[in-house]
Amino acid sequence: MAIEDRDAWSARELGHARPDAAKYRDLARDLRARVEGGVEFDEYAQILYSTDGSIYRAKPAGVVFPTDTSDVQAAVEVATSHEVPILPRGTGSSLAGQTVGPGCVVLDVSRHMDDILEIRPDEKRVRIQPGVVQDDLDAALSEYGLKFAPDPASSNRATVGGGIGNNSTGAHSVRYGITDAYTETVTAVLSDGSLLQAREVVIDSPEWNDIVSKDDREADIYRTVRAVVEDNADEIEARYPDLKRRVSGYNLDRVVYENSAGERVMNLATLFVGSEGTLGVIVEAELSLVTVPEETALALYCFDDLVTAMEAVPVALEYDVSAVELMDDEVFRLAANSDGYAEYVEPIPEGTDAALLLEFDSELHDDFEAAIDATTERFIHDGAAFEVVEAYTDADQADIWKLRKAAIPLLMSLEGDAKPYPFIEDATVPPAELAAYVQKFEAVLDDHDTSAAYFAHAGSGTLHVRPILNLKSESGVEDMHSITDDVTDLVLEHHGSFSGEHGDGMARTEFNPKMYGETLWDAFKRVKTAFDPEWWMHPGNVVYRSGADDIGPDSDRGVGADMREHLRYGAKYQSIEPQTTLDFTDEGGFSHLVELCNGCGTCRQTGQEVMCPTYRASREEVQTTRGRANLLRSAISGDLRPDEIHSERFQEEVLDLCIGCKGCKSDCPTGVDMAKLKAEVKHQHHQARGIGLRERLFANIDTASKVGSMLAPLSNWATKLPGVRTAMQKALGIAPERELPPFRRETLRDWFESRGGSTVERADANARVVLFPDTYTNYSYPAAGKAAVTVLEAADVHVSIPDDTAPSGRAAYSTGMLDRAKERAQSNTDRLVGQVEDGWDIVFVEPSDAVMFQDEYCNLLDGQRVEQVAASSYGVLEYLDVFRLDESLPVDDRSLGAAGTLSYHGHCNQKGTNKDHHAVGVLRRVGYDVDPLDTTCCGMAGSFGYHDEHYALSKAIGSILFDAVDASDGDRVVAPGGSCRSQLGDREGANGIPQHPIEAVADRL
Ligand SMILES: Cc1cc2nc3c(=O)[nH]c(=O)nc-3n(C[C@H](O)[C@H](O)[C@H](O)COP(=O)(O)OP(=O)(O)OC[C@H]3O[C@@H](n4cnc5c(N)ncnc54)[C@H](O)[C@@H]3O)c2cc1C
Ligand code: SF4
Ligand code: SF4
Repeated sequence: MAIEDRDAWSARELGHARPDAAKYRDLARDLRARVEGGVEFDEYAQILYSTDGSIYRAKPAGVVFPTDTSDVQAAVEVATSHEVPILPRGTGSSLAGQTVGPGCVVLDVSRHMDDILEIRPDEKRVRIQPGVVQDDLDAALSEYGLKFAPDPASSNRATVGGGIGNNSTGAHSVRYGITDAYTETVTAVLSDGSLLQAREVVIDSPEWNDIVSKDDREADIYRTVRAVVEDNADEIEARYPDLKRRVSGYNLDRVVYENSAGERVMNLATLFVGSEGTLGVIVEAELSLVTVPEETALALYCFDDLVTAMEAVPVALEYDVSAVELMDDEVFRLAANSDGYAEYVEPIPEGTDAALLLEFDSELHDDFEAAIDATTERFIHDGAAFEVVEAYTDADQADIWKLRKAAIPLLMSLEGDAKPYPFIEDATVPPAELAAYVQKFEAVLDDHDTSAAYFAHAGSGTLHVRPILNLKSESGVEDMHSITDDVTDLVLEHHGSFSGEHGDGMARTEFNPKMYGETLWDAFKRVKTAFDPEWWMHPGNVVYRSGADDIGPDSDRGVGADMREHLRYGAKYQSIEPQTTLDFTDEGGFSHLVELCNGCGTCRQTGQEVMCPTYRASREEVQTTRGRANLLRSAISGDLRPDEIHSERFQEEVLDLCIGCKGCKSDCPTGVDMAKLKAEVKHQHHQARGIGLRERLFANIDTASKVGSMLAPLSNWATKLPGVRTAMQKALGIAPERELPPFRRETLRDWFESRGGSTVERADANARVVLFPDTYTNYSYPAAGKAAVTVLEAADVHVSIPDDTAPSGRAAYSTGMLDRAKERAQSNTDRLVGQVEDGWDIVFVEPSDAVMFQDEYCNLLDGQRVEQVAASSYGVLEYLDVFRLDESLPVDDRSLGAAGTLSYHGHCNQKGTNKDHHAVGVLRRVGYDVDPLDTTCCGMAGSFGYHDEHYALSKAIGSILFDAVDASDGDRVVAPGGSCRSQLGDREGANGIPQHPIEAVADRL
């Protein structure tokens, strides 16, 4: 289990760099004096904001969280007066390194500047602040049947401001084009702190003359941009490729155009789009909108060869399609071998080397079947494709899109140091050239002895190709550079753009002179200098200078660009592989699991799924899975002091606020299992620094509960006394606002024994189960256990409730007391394995204990015995569902809704291990209509919600659940988790503790 036999964390010096916050102390002080929002300049903030979704990493000076336009202006003025550059940032999901800025002041507009200011549905317009997340915007627009057309795959966390910065787009660019077509006006703060209102201005109109007659920066910008566009008209015509998607460089080809009235206008908003924070900080934008098609249909054409599929793309575009997407056999192979996606690949016929996904929408087609028949006639009957999979229902279409969107996560979770990295992954060529381009691309990969998977937006000529390289080696880094050089040659030969989606950033800026030639390159520098004479705004991105005498300021700001600099890994990167108590073999080791975080930012999504409740409640980067992984990576790679990981700050801010819900285990595309990492690090911390009283108490909560139960009702009465509560708060740090769970004099086991054990004889039984007497059910809430016994027996199951099992160890595990958790796992395995071998199953009322047996036990113990026990462990509803025992229950009326509607809140541990769907199936089959709430963790997370210092966060997370309950049509809520029921029961105005779903099943008998 131990990977290297040496002390964790402190054994090896890794060239630790001292924090450089001191260098920026005066800057931070002056920012704090002028800025309303937060200012964070410490080492943690620098680490948290040193990466994005790319392969790059560089520490900024610090981070500012502006609250409004005047805050942005103040921050810009202070930073530039200290001669420190500025980098605006949204979610930081960029893939080319454009949100990484060494020594910059990062302006994170996502925290406070995220309002939708005005919706004008009749004009199909919306005015927003830059930090609004695109899915949140679309949700607000949906009541008007409208949406913002560009749809990046990252829209569940990406901000609209970041989308403008990158000129983002998505699968529907074939139909709608990209962000620059929808950005009507932009209000931006320039590097001197002035405001620019970028909008359509008719050239040579009185308004124009008024602007350019002044002696200020705005006038200079208008004059320069006009001169640049007019002086270089021929070069612009010749050099800008004719593509649906071209996001490299500045939009010189689009900034001057003819408006709908036939007037020649300039709109500087178009220039801000795709400028990646290099021209100014956008504080407001007005966007045009499109109507949402009522219906869509999909046809997936299967080809036995990638090049033939590419040849079919221009043909597909003849048919009014709204998307043409590609997937290749590597994506299918990875999906077929993964737990999460295998089911979605089943409809894909064998022998499919590549598939083209065509979408049809109801705004362009009245009859989907006729439309698909027409493309099928062309593809299948002409012999290009050999099969078509059609999808008309929402569910079938969602499954196909899931497969398409799985490509990146599947590729990024490859084991080992060689990974498919994004650096030329969105090069774009005209669709008619795709087939020839792909063949030559394959030759480049062969020359570099590597391979890649192909997927993405074939209809607009953008292929996502990520060569598999080891960027921790010098040769890998050099291969990356040489592949990029070769591929950019190839793209030019095929009249394409180096970036058709993800932008220039650190990866592509170096190559922009090659794409645009010397004349336009100088034009870019003139434009940049007009907006930002001293090059304070994200210097060296999109455009760079060759030396101090080049166009631009008299300094070395923005000089040079080399894609091999500021890599997150690189040849010098080293990390410690600590000796661990948990088994990290499946994850390739502790450090590999930490490094699996690629910065994609999915853990900042706020709409669905479990991950990450602490971010959802706090909106702070440090409380994302990514933030925790970034800080852990800094700890294992020597970027933090070796003993920092044991500091109070690291424990409190980085680890303690992770509530161990396991949401990231299933929802993070690469499976960064932070709950497991946290348990390991907490354990090592306890070994180094000892264990606190409160942690000991909660880890041994079974003993306390046993005593409480013996002394009930006195113990219940005592815990309610104000003096006792105050004492508990002072001595143990338990929140006085929390009701402690009640202790029952008659435990579940007492009840079971008093009724004489199981009413179903072993010999007559369908099956035999051990019902595990977990602490909460046994001592505090036996009603759920009794219901479980009743239901199981009604299904002819013989039940036994042992009195000699140990607690599951969940409480010890989640406080990082792994030795204790391991003892308990061993004791229960020894106690139960014999029965399992005799054909018994182990059934749990409490989900967190079920998952402890199913998942964590295998990390704590080695060998076949524990695996047998894990494989025979089930949550009670999972058990009923897997063996379809509920079908034999005596229920009168099974019709859906016969028993009313339940709002179902699943347990995060079960969601994290894909076990949560079972309960909903069972409840529906016994006659309930069920609304499965799209909720995250309830916020209690075992003992977390009882901690005085965590009470507020616990309540804030809980309010996400409360809102979902309020929005649901259910008559009442049910939840299998004991903590969840306590949180719901503690809610203001709550009518007692809600039922466990097994009680709802028992009610139907
Ligand atoms: C898994 C994955 C899938 C993706 N899929 C797509 C896709 O389908 N299509 C696509 O286009 N992109 C995609 N991306 C890239 C990225 O998510 C998008 O470009 C997204 O729109 C960026 O939004 P953000 O909030 O993360 O911006 P950030 O990364 O924070 O910023 C992007 C750029 O905009 C600048 N910026 C941010 N805010 C401002 C502001 N207020 N003023 C001025 N400049 C600003 C930043 O400096 C930076 O240069 C994907 C990324 C990942 C990780
Ligand atoms: S933790 Fe996972 S979801 Fe979050 S940024 Fe890292 S890889 Fe993406
Ligand atoms: S375990 Fe839960 S709280 Fe912790 S990082 Fe993962 S999703 Fe967030």
